[in-house]
Amino acid sequence: MIKHNIWNPAAECMPREQIRAIQLKRLQSVVRRVYDNVPLYRGRMDEKGVKPEDIRTLEDLKYLPFTQKTDLRDEYPTGLFAAPRKEIVRIHGSSGTTGKPILAGYTRNDLENWSEMMARTLGAAGATEDDTIQIAYGYGLFTGGLGAHQGATRVGATVVPISSGNTARQIMLMKDLGTTMLCCTPSYATHIGETIQEMGIPLSDLKLRAGCFGAEPWTEAMRQRIEELLGIKAMDIYGLTEICGPGVAYECMMQHGMHINEDHVIAEIIDPITEEPLPYGEKGELVFTTISKEGMPMLRYRTHDLCQLNAEPCECGRTFVRMNRIMGRTDDMLIIRGVNVFPSQIETVLVSIDGLAPHYMIEVDRKGTTDSVEIQVEVNEGVFTDTVGQLEGMKKQISERIKSVVGISANIKLVAPKSIPRSEGKAKRVIDKRKL
Ligand code: AMP
Ligand code: ZN
Repeated sequence: MIKHNIWNPAAECMPREQIRAIQLKRLQSVVRRVYDNVPLYRGRMDEKGVKPEDIRTLEDLKYLPFTQKTDLRDEYPTGLFAAPRKEIVRIHGSSGTTGKPILAGYTRNDLENWSEMMARTLGAAGATEDDTIQIAYGYGLFTGGLGAHQGATRVGATVVPISSGNTARQIMLMKDLGTTMLCCTPSYATHIGETIQEMGIPLSDLKLRAGCFGAEPWTEAMRQRIEELLGIKAMDIYGLTEICGPGVAYECMMQHGMHINEDHVIAEIIDPITEEPLPYGEKGELVFTTISKEGMPMLRYRTHDLCQLNAEPCECGRTFVRMNRIMGRTDDMLIIRGVNVFPSQIETVLVSIDGLAPHYMIEVDRKGTTDSVEIQVEVNEGVFTDTVGQLEGMKKQISERIKSVVGISANIKLVAPKSIPRSEGKAKRVIDKRKL
């Protein structure tokens, strides 16, 4: 029998009508708050001719303006804050790749709510006060470390705030303290698992039972790999700085979609081109409106993450709608010779082939007018010593599978174990030289 570990049944299993009633009340209040306090929202709403009192039902959400990452950049550092500075008790940020970070401000209530969201998340993975939780997300401006930390503290677990990096020390503490749960990016979890294997430490020396992994895209194949390497249940968790951080949505023991904390956010799926809302079940861009945030509420924030929502009741008893695994981002979709390609599709193929390690780099270039793709992928130790003929056969098998599943021809390069740099945070797996 699966135990469903519901941290806050009164919230997580609320009847749908009650969720909708809370959402409407909170939406109306957040719209009023941003209209009164944030010039950008007031300006956009005035442009559209929408006043706070026009939001009478949840369906009226569609009349509100969207926000984007560029708005956060333009309003840097604090232009979108909706509370007086003395009420802001924390700032977090996301570095992005270039330029200034985007920042988010939290009031005391925001931190309370975020801790609650993260406690539900860890609780769903089985966390209780009997657990020792090792937090190997980075601590600092990044929301991962402190976000997971607050949730684990709320659950009452013993928290090991080790942050990311120094893998040998991670493993030593894991062993000596009998760590039962791990929180980090899925790529770092893989690296930790492989290092444990190399060090010859049997899993029976560890007490690890579950892990909450997120902050970057990963696949079902990657999940299986982590579950095997670490002997745990690997749960997918989702979040983003603009909305609060980790804990926006979390998997339950069914491992079939992530429940969205709908008493704190409203999720929509839109067509990324027409910007029209799509019904449940259709694939599109995920959009969030925060309904409890005071420091920096977001109206209809376009995440650029692609996924589907599922409103079917879940066996675990939670009534929050589920979002499925993120399928890619509208902005990391590669268009290669006219074919839309998501790195996650390539990952799924690679991880399904025996003898390959889940470490790869996709390099796209343009020779003349033709796009070329090279995929470097690591082989396992045993395979590396195979004959040239065997390696050629493997390359052929990979490129044929990529051709049939993803629809593109790629040049495959098998590389030595450990030659692709490991990541302790978010992994970088695509180099697109065409943009240079
Ligand atoms: P950041 O604000 O730096 O934490 O980045 C947030 C972004 O990380 C999201 O918009 C997603 O693109 C990605 N992300 C976070 N969690 C997941 C997850 N579980 N699966 C896939 N992508 C994720
Ligand atoms: Zn569930």
